[in-house]
Amino acid sequence: MLDLSQLSFDFGALPRWLPFRSVRELETVETPPSSDESVADGRDEALEEQTREMLLKLELPGGAKLVTVTWNARLRSTAGYARYPSWAIELNPRLREFEGQVDRTLKHELAHLIAYHRSGRRRIEPHGREWRAACAELGIAGEAAHHRLPLPRNEVERKLVYACPSCQTPVQRVRKFRRPTACLQCCNRHAGGRYDGRFRLVLMSGA
Ligand SMILES: [Zn+2]
Ligand SMILES: [Zn+2]
Repeated sequence: MLDLSQLSFDFGALPRWLPFRSVRELETVETPPSSDESVADGRDEALEEQTREMLLKLELPGGAKLVTVTWNARLRSTAGYARYPSWAIELNPRLREFEGQVDRTLKHELAHLIAYHRSGRRRIEPHGREWRAACAELGIAGEAAHHRLPLPRNEVERKLVYACPSCQTPVQRVRKFRRPTACLQCCNRHAGGRYDGRFRLVLMSGA
């Protein structure tokens, strides 16, 4: 389930295209689990079924068909991730140690997918009003943008994390981008492969 479209590129005189392998090894936190990972990893059919039911209740059968829920032990200090448009939710297995946090985080991430789906090509804030509205519909009104769980921190977290404002794909960097850099996936999808400022990567943490 490697999503090869999750690349980023520098836009300048000579766009530098980062091959996925180097991005995976050096720069991203959220690589999908490989088959030799621990048993804590993998898709969770029961959670996927719950998620499908929530989407059907909100009359989103397309999302219900696509959505996957995967445990990913590599998330470390991150509670969960949502990828759009692949409708893929990843959850940190450590959430199971905290009462109610699996359900809450699942809904938090699902709300991102719903918000992106409904906004179409319109750019929205990751935790803006569309997301908050989806949270309310999922029964977690007032949900916070960031968790406060005591998840382990590691050296990866001290690096810079950028994210695409449209699809939310995170990109980790050791140094700041010197030039405006946009999400390759979204530029390919919506801008004919050319740099488009709507998809400029935003520094999320580590500044
Ligand atoms: Zn979020
Ligand atoms: Zn994007």
